[in-house]
Amino acid sequence: MIGMQNSKSAFWFRRDLRLQDNIGLFHALKAEVPVVPVFIFDQEILEDLPKQDNRVCFIHQQILAIQKSLEAMGSSLVVRYGKVQDIWPKLVQEYSIQTVYTNHDYEPSAIQRDLVIQDLLTHHGCGFHTFRDQVIFEKDELLTGGGKPYSVFTPYSRKWKASLTQDRIHSVDTAAFSPYFFASPPLPIPSLASMGFQESEATFPPSSPNHEIIRHYEQKRNFPSLPGTSRLGIHLRFGTISIRQLVRIAIQLNETYLNELIWREFYMQILFNFPHVTEGPFRPQYAHIPWRNEEEEFEKWCHGQTGYPLVDAGMRELNATGFMHNRVRMVTASFLTKHLLIDWQWGEAYFAEKLLDFELASNNGGWQWAAGCGTDAAPYFRVFNPTSQMKKFDPDLRYVMKWVPEFGTPVYPKPIVEHKFARERCLRTYKEALDSIKA
Ligand code: FAD
Repeated sequence: MIGMQNSKSAFWFRRDLRLQDNIGLFHALKAEVPVVPVFIFDQEILEDLPKQDNRVCFIHQQILAIQKSLEAMGSSLVVRYGKVQDIWPKLVQEYSIQTVYTNHDYEPSAIQRDLVIQDLLTHHGCGFHTFRDQVIFEKDELLTGGGKPYSVFTPYSRKWKASLTQDRIHSVDTAAFSPYFFASPPLPIPSLASMGFQESEATFPPSSPNHEIIRHYEQKRNFPSLPGTSRLGIHLRFGTISIRQLVRIAIQLNETYLNELIWREFYMQILFNFPHVTEGPFRPQYAHIPWRNEEEEFEKWCHGQTGYPLVDAGMRELNATGFMHNRVRMVTASFLTKHLLIDWQWGEAYFAEKLLDFELASNNGGWQWAAGCGTDAAPYFRVFNPTSQMKKFDPDLRYVMKWVPEFGTPVYPKPIVEHKFARERCLRTYKEALDSIKA
């Protein structure tokens, strides 16, 4: 362990909460200058969250785990709570930091934040080195023959696979350089309560991939009553698993699963290259749909009281656990936008608040797809029938009865809207809106 010296660097953890195979951390340690590991509970992000938020508890748990591992190596994590632009100048001074290392984040607000921090650090004579870590291909690394970002998944995924080289999925050995963590006595971590958050009893899916589930992924992944998907969303979101490790497993075990990991990267590059998607539709002509936006109907959808059992089961599962199966995400999102003609951005915001695996890029992509206005959008005239979806994907009603036990009894609500009527209303509304632009 290297002791107190003048020259030091820092590694700033954000959505890469692991010590192993962390590219930015690896480069920081490899420079053979003592590295101060830092995590900041960003007040500006936390302020907007509900005070009982299991994602914040998850982050807190991971920070404690990283702290424990660092302490075992004679180092410690520096954890602060506040505004990042106030905290960095203080840390730079306090620890005589000359370079800050971190990994890329592709969300528009994070890009903005990093530009501010880079300026600020430069002003203090401190370097800012950033790395690709959370994806295999980032930003504009994959472009079409015409040099443009991809906006359709299939050609993107073909290019992704054709461009994959071993070095992209090679894991870095951070542990080999662990003596370069800055030596420190154990440091305190702010409690959840001190930041205004409640503790929770929530348990989270394990971060280790279940090989059996991945091996049989395409056979079971569409049935919400089965444990047929990997449940690694939260770990990919917060970087408690390395994408390189997971892609290597997917390549070995199951191509359909690999494709899902590529969807994740596809939406991340969409967000990076077309940041307007956070404000409105990917395809601008869809900005003119006259949404009905009936608040009472939205409330019923949120609370799983639409009278469509698969929709209601999904929303109740989401509210109770922070998870919803992908098939059911598609059905609930389609129902909100097409059956009820409620703006997809309302649904997007609701999912963003509730999902443990909330990922801006994938959530936005999923909602735009469901509303028919996104990249590979289902054509607007394809309206899911929630009853047929239930018969196909939950034929023995195991999933529905778990979340809607009163289904089939007189207390279960009547359908909020009749399917055939809603479908026709949707088709008419979309067609008129799109025709009015052409005219
Ligand atoms: P698995 O099926 O085991 O897939 C493994 C991983 O691949 C996932 O964890 C995820 O990182 C990625 N993945 C799988 N499907 C997709 C997809 N369609 N698009 C992008 N990445 C995918 N996924 C999120 O990670 N965060 C979100 O906020 C999110 N919101 C969604 C909203 C809607 C309306 C829809 C239709 C889909 C959304 N998805 C989102 C995609 C998908 O539903 C989830 O990734 C998946 O259900 C998570 O469960 P899992 O970890 O068991 O995934």
